[in-house]
Amino acid sequence: MFIFGVMNKPIDAAKHQGQRKLLIDRLASMGISDRRVLDAMLQVPRHWFMDIGLESHAYDNKAFPIAADQTISHPYTVAFQSQLLEVKAGDQVLEIGTGSGYQTAVLLALGIKTFTIERQQELFKKTKRLFSKLNLYPKKVVFGDGYLGMPEEAPFHGIVVTAGAPDVPKPLLQQLALGGRLVIPIGTDEQIMTRYTRISEKEFDKETFGAFRFVPMLKNKN
Ligand code: SAH
Repeated sequence: MFIFGVMNKPIDAAKHQGQRKLLIDRLASMGISDRRVLDAMLQVPRHWFMDIGLESHAYDNKAFPIAADQTISHPYTVAFQSQLLEVKAGDQVLEIGTGSGYQTAVLLALGIKTFTIERQQELFKKTKRLFSKLNLYPKKVVFGDGYLGMPEEAPFHGIVVTAGAPDVPKPLLQQLALGGRLVIPIGTDEQIMTRYTRISEKEFDKETFGAFRFVPMLKNKN
């Protein structure tokens, strides 16, 4: 468990590790083929990012409630979005929607320099505390509106939006490096997973990858 410090970390019992292995095998059988993503998810105890009452379900392939009416994404969704980013260790990635911090931890386990934004103050504070407790070090954890991105840290090799956006926010496209990818679920009731790749200063390639369900990406801080 190299990404987590050794001091005061919560328990990751053999039972959890066994359940996690089964979950990762299931993700692989569902078509997640990037071994680095699967290995990263094998390293991150998902139950550390969930309420203690839901711990026994942490390795079910499901989304669950976290604080402030939000959800920790479905493991398949985290794997799918991480894979679509196609980034490598040392790359710089911006995550919109810190939420529980689970996706952030998976990016860190991939060796990525991770920047993350959350608009819900309660969640932001709670998850920031959790990162310190787990000795996890994102480059920046910001309370703010992800619609604006993080211009002061741009350009990014990857940007991953973990809430459903009605449309693609222009600032996020502008903050991509050349060749960088924005992975964003677009839609209101249901979202289509969409990937924009920056191919020149002004041109973006757009691909779609089927329907998913996310909590909404909301404007402004709360
Ligand atoms: N990545 C998270 C997913 C949490 S759900 C995880 O692994 O647990 C999506 C999160 O996006 C919620 O916490 C929600 O508050 C946040 N969110 C929604 N709109 C946002 C915005 N405009 N800027 C930043 N965060 C936003």
